[in-house]
Amino acid sequence: MKKTLLRGWLLGLIVIALAGCGNGGVVTADLNDVTEPVDNVPVSEVPVEEAPVVESTVTEEPEDVEVVSDLDYEQIRPDESGEIMIVMYHNLSEKNTTYSRTIDSFKSDLQRLYDMGFSAVSMRDYSDGKFDVEAGRTPVVLTFDDGHRSNFNYLETDDGLMIDPDCVVGILDAFYEENTSFGKAAVFYLNAGNPFGQPKYIEQKLLYLHEQGYEIGNHAYNHENLSELDADGIQKALGKNVQHFNKLNQDLVMESLALPYGKGPQNEALKIYALNGRYDGFEYNNRTVLRVGWKPYVPVYHMDFNEGGVHRVQSGDADMQLTWWLDEYEKNPHRRFISDGLENRISIPSEHLDRINLDAISDKELFEYTLEDL
Ligand SMILES: [Zn+2]
Repeated sequence: MKKTLLRGWLLGLIVIALAGCGNGGVVTADLNDVTEPVDNVPVSEVPVEEAPVVESTVTEEPEDVEVVSDLDYEQIRPDESGEIMIVMYHNLSEKNTTYSRTIDSFKSDLQRLYDMGFSAVSMRDYSDGKFDVEAGRTPVVLTFDDGHRSNFNYLETDDGLMIDPDCVVGILDAFYEENTSFGKAAVFYLNAGNPFGQPKYIEQKLLYLHEQGYEIGNHAYNHENLSELDADGIQKALGKNVQHFNKLNQDLVMESLALPYGKGPQNEALKIYALNGRYDGFEYNNRTVLRVGWKPYVPVYHMDFNEGGVHRVQSGDADMQLTWWLDEYEKNPHRRFISDGLENRISIPSEHLDRINLDAISDKELFEYTLEDL
């Protein structure tokens, strides 16, 4: 069984190599097709001008095939069309409520995510559809709205400033030190008002976020309700906020928007301004617009992806909140996005190929596979 799978895998590699040189179309490799001699690559899949490459590759002996087996498709069963959670947090405080989480509960969330095979990724990587996580793990995006001080707090000590070990940044930094395969990533959706509650340290905090690979996102200058604004109003609310943070740190670019109150523009004609606009000569471009709640979402190259209405999972223990969804994934692990560990390849079981929007995979390779005993 092992050997036949490996031969199928080699066939897959050959077809991918050709597609990479050719028109970049759909790549298919049926791992059931193991009784076929390797040199029976269907003629229809081989561009004529690449024929010499096929001949030289398929003359390899079966022994060489063993070398190729760096990913065990049968065991890992990657499915990069599966669900991805974008988790929404707000404050850390004494009680668990809709908009706050206790420090202990937040730490427990991280531990459970890690233990269940999730790894934190940036919103930028999510938007690129590229995930630098180990094979078999599932990306998760951690988002924090409103710039609470509990998200990023400095303690003034006799030895100077130190990051509060009980604020979100302190907790994420420490968790990463202990569990590097969880990754270190989070995005903070900020308003201009008083982000992170210590105005004299805001530039220092933004610099730290940038240096550590964290991100900031747009949450409107005054936390405006975009459903009450016209085109000029929306562009002012979003563009002025980008302008404000750009003055504080040019390197931290806002590339996504979390809708204040979860409310987007009131009609179709205005929706474009949630994504792109201009204020005072200053342009903004949001690659994703995030709603509030209530379910996991899909990768950007999924047929159901809508950049203007990305769902989030609220933190918390109630129905349809994070704890509930993790329980659901324990019962139905096949729903999850399972990584192949390769940033530039999208691995899809053949039964899910119809989920993929071929126009949205950009320069990545699409690798379809089938296992005999699925
Ligand atoms: Zn908010």
